[in-house]
Parts: sequence; structure tokens; C-alpha cells
Amino acid sequence: MNEVTQARTAACGTAASSLACGDIKARLAEEDRQIAQCMGRVKTKLLVFSGKGGVGKSTVAANLARFLASTGRQVGLLDIDLHGPSIPRLMGVGHQAVSVRDHLLEPVRLDDHLALMSMGFLLSSDAESVVWRGPRKGSVIRQFLREVAWGDLDVLVVDAPPGTGDEPLTIAQTIGHPAGAIIVTTPQDLAVDDVRRSVTFCRQVNLPIVGIIENMAGLVCPHCGQSVDLFKKGGGESLAQEMETRFLGRIPIDPAIMLASDQGQAAVDGRCPNAMAQIFTGVVQILDHQNAHTGPRSEQLLGAVSPSAVEPRLTIAVPVADQRLSPHFGHCPDVALIEVDQP
Ligand code: ADP
Repeated sequence: MNEVTQARTAACGTAASSLACGDIKARLAEEDRQIAQCMGRVKTKLLVFSGKGGVGKSTVAANLARFLASTGRQVGLLDIDLHGPSIPRLMGVGHQAVSVRDHLLEPVRLDDHLALMSMGFLLSSDAESVVWRGPRKGSVIRQFLREVAWGDLDVLVVDAPPGTGDEPLTIAQTIGHPAGAIIVTTPQDLAVDDVRRSVTFCRQVNLPIVGIIENMAGLVCPHCGQSVDLFKKGGGESLAQEMETRFLGRIPIDPAIMLASDQGQAAVDGRCPNAMAQIFTGVVQILDHQNAHTGPRSEQLLGAVSPSAVEPRLTIAVPVADQRLSPHFGHCPDVALIEVDQP
């Protein structure tokens, strides 16, 4: 078995079906211990979320990670978008063979300060797709948190897929504290409506929100210099006000950002401040404040994530007819709901 195959086997996990309930509980407890140990070496976790796809979430995550690394911090960038991993292209590393050492996946190192892990590194080609249901996805994300040799990090930036499904839930419940969410939206109502749900999601899972970024806010015409509000303007800022959270700033539509992303280059350069750099400077100030202060105020900025904030019970729907088990889930006249403890 070559190293990539080993890595892929490791990432896909082993079948749990043959394990008894007690074995599963013990295995999960051991995994939790390993995650706590691995994530305990990460000073701060920043989760980049959006309720909507295509709003520039991965672009923000990739450039935020580069920016933080350029300040001398040790940074990890974890891509948990298992179905559409963009980080390999955005970071210009393409397809990489991931090696395994001492049973841990070695992250792909961009330089001395920035380490990357993505499902994209574990697939055999850019065309290969992942077809998994929720539990398997959760298990892979847990493996990324405990079986990657992240080492000591100042910040782990996580690029989550859009929405409020299995992946954001698993990461929010598992990653440990201190952690905070950066939420990306575009200004138009269609995006804002979905992103509002991301804010609610963060509150439901007790994940502090660092702030909202409004991306693709206006395009400056390269010919006449006039600003055209292609997707309107101000939607992200209004959402921040409405949801009483911090507005981190606005990034215009800039063809240079798209080109840099396609070429796997940085769209933000510390020596040449642009809107993105200004926003990230604000994020660095928040991190510095967090590190300098302990107590209730910093807990508000990047506080503890409490897994108990989400109902830990599982509801199972059983199809019934005349109070007996029905074989037709789609056509049964009744459904019995049974609540069980999660294993
Ligand atoms: P998401 O992760 O939300 O799905 P991406 O980060 O993949 O979105 O961005 C979608 C596309 O938009 C990419 O081609 C990216 O280069 C481009 N893009 C993102 N932000 C901007 C921007 N401010 N100006 C121009 N293009 C952008």
C-alpha cells in the first residue's frame, strides 16, 4: 500500500458496523481524548462559515491564513469542504501526495509558517468525487482534528462548506475552545437570508461570532472609475446590525482577487494594503486582544464551544401502519418518533 492509499484509508475510517455499542462509546471517548490533545496545541481556532456557496468564503479563508502566517504566526488551514475542496487550488499546491508518519497524516507545508490539509489531497484526481452520508463525513472531520500532525499552532483556520449541515455542526461541536466564527456573505438579499441562518446556527451551538465580512460589495469600473453595485451594497453590514454582531468590513469585486485565486496566489499583500488586508488586520487585533486578556470580555470574542448546547439525543423515525411496523417508509400512514441517546 503506498502512502497516499494509506492516507486515504486512514481518512475514510473503518467500518463501525461490527462494533458493539460499548466498543463504539469507548472508541469515541478515545477519539475525543486524542482530539482534545491535538487541538489543545492550537491557541485559537477560526471557523470561516457562510450559509451560501459562491460568496467567497474559501477565498477569505485562504487569504486569512496567508495573512496570519505573514505576521509570523504558526498557522494551519483545514479545508472541511469534502465535496468541493477548493483550498489546494487556492493555495497553488494542486494535487499533493500526503504522507503518513507515526500514524499521523503530514499536512502539506506551504512554507515554515503555513500547513494545509484538505480532502482534495486525499482524492486520486480533481475529478474524483466523495459520496458520503453525514456520519461518515463527521468521522473524517474528526480524523482531520486528531490524526493530522498539526503540531503547535497559533491559529487553525477552518474553511467549512456552505450551509448549516453535518460538517459545520461536527466542527463546531468538536474543535474545542477558544474558537470563533467569521461569517462571509455577499450583499444581496438572497445570500443574506441564508447567511442569517449561519448566525443563528453559531448561536445555537454556542460558537462566538468574530464578525461578518461583506464580500463582492461593488465593482469599480476599470474604464470610467465609477462603482457599480452588482450585488447591491450594505447587506452584510445591515445583517451585522440586525443580529447585533461585529461588522468586519467590505471587500469589493476585484478581478485581481479572482485571478490570484485561480492562479493559487495571495490576493492580499501586507505591503500593499487593500480592503482584505484591512479586515484581516482587524482580525489580528481581535486575536491579540484575546491573547492579552483573560476573563469574560475575551470569552465573548472567542469563547468556549459547549457541545451540550446542541441536543445530544438522536430521533429515529419508524414507519408504522395500524400500530405495527410498516415496510413502506414513503407511503406509511404514520411515523413513530423514538428518541435515543447518541452512542
Ligand atoms: P465559496 O467558498 O463561498 O463557495 P469562493 O471563495 O470559491 O466561494 O469564491 C467563488 C469565486 O468568486 C471564485 O472564483 C473567487 O475567485 C471569486 N471571488 C471571491 N471573492 C471575490 C472578490 N471580492 N472579487 C472577485 N472575485 C471574487
